[in-house]
This record gives sequence, C-alpha cells and structure tokens, in this order.
Amino acid sequence: MDMSERPRLFLETYGHFINGEWVSGDTGKTIPVSNPATGEILANIQAGNAADVDRAVQAAHLAFKTWSRTHPRQRQLVLQEMARRMRARLADFAMMETVDNGKPITDSTMFDVPATAEVYDYFASLATNIQGGTTDYPDSILLTHREPLGVCAAIVPWNIPLYCTALKVAPALAAGNTIVVKPAESTGLSILEFFRDCADILPPGVVNIVTGYGAEAGEPLVRHPLVRKVSFTGSKPTARKIMGYASQNIIPQTMELGGKSANIICADADLDAAAEGVVMSTVFNKGEVCIAGTRTFVHESIMDRFLQKLSEQIGNVRQGDPLDPRTQLGPQASQVQFDKVAGYLALGPSEGAHVLAGGGKASIAGFENGLFIQPTIFSNVRNDMRIATEEIFGPVTCILSWRDEAEVLDAANASDYGLGGGVWTKDLTRAHRFAREMQTGTVWINRYYNFVPGQPLGGYKQSGFGRENCAETLLHYSQAKAVIINLAEGALGLYQSATPPN
Ligand code: NAD
Repeated sequence: MDMSERPRLFLETYGHFINGEWVSGDTGKTIPVSNPATGEILANIQAGNAADVDRAVQAAHLAFKTWSRTHPRQRQLVLQEMARRMRARLADFAMMETVDNGKPITDSTMFDVPATAEVYDYFASLATNIQGGTTDYPDSILLTHREPLGVCAAIVPWNIPLYCTALKVAPALAAGNTIVVKPAESTGLSILEFFRDCADILPPGVVNIVTGYGAEAGEPLVRHPLVRKVSFTGSKPTARKIMGYASQNIIPQTMELGGKSANIICADADLDAAAEGVVMSTVFNKGEVCIAGTRTFVHESIMDRFLQKLSEQIGNVRQGDPLDPRTQLGPQASQVQFDKVAGYLALGPSEGAHVLAGGGKASIAGFENGLFIQPTIFSNVRNDMRIATEEIFGPVTCILSWRDEAEVLDAANASDYGLGGGVWTKDLTRAHRFAREMQTGTVWINRYYNFVPGQPLGGYKQSGFGRENCAETLLHYSQAKAVIINLAEGALGLYQSATPPN
C-alpha cells in the first residue's frame, strides 16, 4: 500500500502551539517536511522567529505561576495521561515517526513509541516524590525545599524526536516547570501531532512548541531573558553556540551530544551474540544514534572468525521500505545526513580502511528517490583515522584490532567523546574491570542497546553533561532553597548558631 492509499496522517500545515492554541507564525513563512524514503512532502511547519519565541516564552512564564503551585498529584495525573495517549495511538505515532524520519516501522513500534510512553510514566511516578529535607540544630531547624526553575527551553534533534522530547518535557513538568520545545526542522511532525492529542489535558502555556530553524527559532529561545534552563540534544558545534547564548543569562544547561563509542569484543566472547550486537548497533535507527558502538575493537586472535560471522550477518540485513515490518534498515533522515555519510564512505578507503561490507549508496526498487546507504563495515581501521574519530551518524561501523587490555582501554578512551560502550566476554571480572576503566556514561556487558526508565543517559567528556531518564534528572530541573527557623529566644548571631559549644 503506498502513502496515497493511506488515511491522511498529517495536517497540511501546522501552526506553533502557544498558550494552548495553534497559531501562525509572525512571518507566515513555512518549511516543507518530507519523507526521506520517497521525497514526498508530508506537511508544512511554521518557520518561527524571535517574535514567535517571545509569545511562547511569555505564555510559559505566565503559566508557571499556576503550574508550579499545582498539587504534585495533579502533575502526575497529567503525565500518566500523556503516557496513556501515546500508547493509545501507538500504531499512528509509529507510522508518523517512520514516514517523517525514515526509521523502520519495527523500530518505531517496538522502541520509539513505547519507550516514550515509559518516560512519561516514569516521571509521573516521581512527581509525587520530589522531596526536600529537614535538619535539626539545637537552636534552629533547617528546611531544604526543592523548587522548580521556571520556563525551560528544550532543543530537540531529528533522530529520535518523540523520545528525546519526552526526556525533556516529562521531568520539566514533573518538577513544576513550564517548557518551550523547539523540534528539529526536518522531523517535528510526530511531536506536533502528539501535543495536538494532549492539548486538552495541558493547561494553556505549560507546554509550547515553536518550530523553525536553529538560528531563527532556537537561538532566540535560548537567549530569551525569561528562560531559566536549557536542555539540548544535538551536535557539538551547536552545543558550543548554545552554551554561549546560555552564558549571557547564566542559565543551567543539560547537554546530550554525540559519541564514538567503543564496543570491545574479547577472545572468550560468544561471537555469534557479539556479531549480532554489532550488526544491531550498526543498523538500528539507520545508525543515526548518538550512542551507537561505532568503534568495534576485536581481539586479534578471533579477528578472522569474527569478521566471517559479521559479514554473514550484515549480509542478511533487510533494507528497504521503512513501512514494511520486516525492514531493518531504512533511509537516512535527510539529504544533508545522506551526503555526510556518503562523504565518510569515500573517505574510509582513502584512509586505508578495508570495506568488509557495503560501502556505498543502496538502490531500492520502488524507492528511487530514497536516501539509502548500504550497511557498511570498515575493517583494518586505525584509531587515529577520521572515520574512527568523527561521528558519522549512519549505518557504518569501524573494526579495530587489539592485543592486550591496557592497550585497548587506552584506545577506547582516546576519544573526545564518552557516551556509550560495550564489552563482550564470559569473564565477568574482566567485564567489570573494563566497565570501570571506560570513560563513558553507559557500558553494556554482553549486549548492546537497551534503555529502561531510571537508566541514566548522558555523556562523559565532550558527549555532554547532565543525565536524562533518571531520578537525578529532576535535580537538573529544580533548585534547592534553604529555610532556617530560629528556635532560640531573640535573634542569634552568626557565630552562636554555627559554633558548637566547647
Ligand atoms: P544539531 O545540533 O544540528 O541540531 C539539533 C537541534 O538544534 C535542532 O533542533 C536544530 O534546529 C537546533 N539548532 C541548530 N542550530 C541552533 C542554534 N544556533 N541555536 C539553537 N538551536 C539550534 O544536531 P542534529 O543533527 O539534529 O542531531 C544529531 C546530533 O545529536 C548528533 O551529534 C547526535 O550524536 C546527537 N544526539 C545525542 C543524543 C544524546 O542523548 N546524547 C541523542 C540524540 C542525538
């Protein structure tokens, strides 16, 4: 069935979502959003500017006065209902994510939509458990309250739109903040549709969405003087700009950036399982995953056997129509991304890498305009090659050889990034030793990929700072206030209360 036979998924043109209403942008300019598998235009979104951002932030600022004082149970109910509505239309949202971004429908159905619902449920469960503390002193009581920050700004990337939005909206709301979301210009449709679904349960101004380009809508949002926090997921160059804007108003930041994660295969590993893990890491979400294990270090004693298994498994990857449930690998999300990956495919052999599998553009019958790249494995890679140091963000994995533990740990850590990592071995002592030494926010042992609520997501080094998806996240969306109550007669001096009696 082609798209023309399906019921229409999207509106022709979306407005911004500001103060509970769908409104046109200041300039009236729109941006077409296309399906990367076919090139078909799916819908148009507003090309927002500073005036639109200002309306949204003012609405969020006003709404904060009430939302920050709602009963936590009320906030919990709203978040639970958001989770329920996400699940109630799982098939629709999965299809939206797939046609908008190109990810296989099985990924959207099995990961993006259910995982997003879990994030809303998880932060709902924490909403009634945000606590301060009490400390007793002989002459006073110290009360520590946790208070929300105010208007938060969420800048969202194009690779996992619904999930990345939930990682910011859910904790912000749970803690009593309001928020303005700026989705990526190429993939905002599922986010807009989800908030159309939730508009009746969100008090006006609590969540606002302004669409548009980064420089025109994202920058004024982060720079707005009423914004009290920014949470950003995206690339390093954009992160540096956003940190610069945020420094003007001295607001806290959460930065979820890129990765070049090391996946270490030891000689005693289950090689079939490890090869499966490497293939999954290569193709899941078309390799457009910040935490993908893109540098796979294989022990030299098993290299030949492992490469044999890997090429067999990668050869079985089903690439094609993202809406076919059997498809494992869809098209890259945009022409820009496609061109970037194609550039690295040309670079690899010129740097001396061997093409074990793939290495070029894929032609898929019936999808002649699709942005498909073959699943690609480069072997014979050195850790200092550009393909091993720069984030490719496509279905491309580099294979490197290692001999001893100290050497492979040095090599794994010789990266500006530190987001994810994997270790494959039957020796649990070694696995823990590796995990402890790896300078990275997540280490998987004998598997690659899983994201459960409560699992901290975030990076070491230039992969960012702050953690999403866990209880600690709420600390990033709230601040401590100390209230001291004097129990003594009269006002105590500073030294009297601070110095214990002799
Ligand atoms: P990007 O930096 O190009 O864009 C991300 C967002 O920032 C978009 O909404 C964009 O419009 C906005 N933006 C761009 N310029 C801006 C500016 N000057 N001011 C404000 N906003 C601006 O990144 P991308 O290409 O959309 O996403 C891919 C990157 O995201 C990769 O590097 C990937 O590793 C990273 N990523 C990280 C995680 C994580 O959790 N660490 C998750 C997903 C993606």
